[in-house]
Amino acid sequence: MRCHLRRFPLTKAVPLAISRGTTHAVDHLLVVLEHDGIRGIGETGGLDTGHRRYDTATIAWELEQLAPRLDGCSPAAFQALEPLLAPLSPPARCGVDLALQDWLGQRLGVPLWRLWGLDPAACVATSVTLGLGEPAVVLARLERWWEQLPATRIKLKLGSPDGVAHDLALLDAVVMALEQRRQNTGVACELQVDANGGWSLETARAMAPVLAERGVVLLEQPLPPLLDGDADAAGFAALRPVCPIPLVADESCWNLADLLRLAPHVDGINIKLLKCGGLAEGLLMAQVARRLDLGVMLGCYSDGSLLNGAAAQLLPLVRWPDLDSHLNLVDDPFSGLERRADQLLPPCGAGLGMSAPDAWLEPF
Ligand SMILES: [Mg+2]
Repeated sequence: MRCHLRRFPLTKAVPLAISRGTTHAVDHLLVVLEHDGIRGIGETGGLDTGHRRYDTATIAWELEQLAPRLDGCSPAAFQALEPLLAPLSPPARCGVDLALQDWLGQRLGVPLWRLWGLDPAACVATSVTLGLGEPAVVLARLERWWEQLPATRIKLKLGSPDGVAHDLALLDAVVMALEQRRQNTGVACELQVDANGGWSLETARAMAPVLAERGVVLLEQPLPPLLDGDADAAGFAALRPVCPIPLVADESCWNLADLLRLAPHVDGINIKLLKCGGLAEGLLMAQVARRLDLGVMLGCYSDGSLLNGAAAQLLPLVRWPDLDSHLNLVDDPFSGLERRADQLLPPCGAGLGMSAPDAWLEPF
């Protein structure tokens, strides 16, 4: 098979601030694999979880080194390809994995979710994200979301570098806005909190009951992720007995091995394709998590709709979809991911069911 890359920008309509900083725009990569007249496409890009960081330029270099080695390989031969993909970083592997899965689904003429026997009727609404900021600015962002779509699940970022007083003021402002919305429209919204590792154990212990009292339905990644897996799991273990709401691991949980390490100490995990290395690992994680009675969240970084459309193949397995990044882009180049109200629909086209601009599919 032939492989080529194209680098492209993704620019946010509204910059997103979390505990680690603010994102305005990113550069991502389109991966195109061509074989037997079928082109499979994948998207990848850099990510930073505080303890592990990958940048887009290095991912591009990895994929450029890989490309000539794919000559003579078939995209359907996943097992034979595994030794070539195993040494790649998770986001580099993700870009190739998505293109391989897309190629196979197109060759078979079915969407991947259908190939896996998933039921689109099991899909639920996605959350939309409110970043950190002054309460008035965050409430204006919430109104802007509601002008765009009838969002009923809101994810609020806390863990402000300005401290817990800022977090509490922001939390109360959003809780009041949701109550006002309920009174005005009769529609109750669900509120989730993601601290992105911005709290100490002491702060998390103090905040967990406050969140529960305010009606927050889950707490995601309160503590900073640690490279030492045992120490990382110990943080969740110490918090969980005093956390009255589901505790979800994101930055601490990259792959199936992390899932198994954290399973005794959390109520759910956040799967992201760039973190886990693509749909092969993501599908495995979602299925294992469900067998272990863990809630599955499906998240994104500053991703375009090719990555989110790929993730959407897994939606029927997901309790807490969180695939809103493409809804906040001014220059998303892809098409195929549709939504009904605040529910994303697994794409109906073969493979990933996503399209890139025609000119990008040719090597240049
Ligand atoms: Mg998160």
